[in-house]
Amino acid sequence: MPAAPLVDSHCHLTWPDFEGDVPAVVERMAAAHVARAVVVATSVEDARRTKALAATSPLLVPTAGIHPNDLPEGLDDALAELRSLVAEGGYVAVGETGLDYYRDSTEPDVQRRAFHAQCELAVAHDLPVIVHIRDRDGRTAAYDDVDAVIGSHEGLRGVIHCYTGGPDHARRYLDRGFVVSFAGILTFPKGENVREAARVVPLDRTMVETDAPFLAPVPYRGKRNEPAYVAHTAAALAALHGLEPDEIARRTSQVAADLFRFAVE
Ligand SMILES: [Zn+2]
Repeated sequence: MPAAPLVDSHCHLTWPDFEGDVPAVVERMAAAHVARAVVVATSVEDARRTKALAATSPLLVPTAGIHPNDLPEGLDDALAELRSLVAEGGYVAVGETGLDYYRDSTEPDVQRRAFHAQCELAVAHDLPVIVHIRDRDGRTAAYDDVDAVIGSHEGLRGVIHCYTGGPDHARRYLDRGFVVSFAGILTFPKGENVREAARVVPLDRTMVETDAPFLAPVPYRGKRNEPAYVAHTAAALAALHGLEPDEIARRTSQVAADLFRFAVE
């Protein structure tokens, strides 16, 4: 496990899974040399919670955004509320947003509208955007559409989080200047497609994340995930690149520090 400071670039500590437990989670983070965790919002209400939670520890930093599976009926009102929240300041990113064609909960064109609006908001405040992509097995429409949306916003920067797509789409996002973040799937025996993508992403464009409470890496698979466990994903990435875990920690933390504009020490 690395001794250099790590960053968990994506977790959901406002979820009920962590109720009453965040101080202990933060203690274990610190013990595992995880210097920062980006606490990602999935709705306007959640963006109020991420900011309040981050105020309880310097190790936590909040984002504000509306997840494609969480788009409310009154989308325009919600987007207006999101704009005023972000304008208040204190957030390190807009998201998570993106496209999810796996679930049919929301029409793709409504999802694209919400995604475009959040990209615009990110550019307006010079914040990075955190992008979720999911499609059905064997289909890549969501991946292609994400590429089209991010390509249409000049000056947009950001991260494709919990990457599970192929190497070709990864290359396209890299060409757009995006960073790619890998979760615990990198440690799964059946994660070979994700490892294949991780091999093509240069380390100066790679981050690691937990996506907690989901996707706990081996050896915690099936349990509740938490930021401390990102060390296992970093170790898997180190093995993949034939480098020391410390080197991976230093490099992925630098990418996170540059993208989110915080210090990691
Ligand atoms: Zn997420």
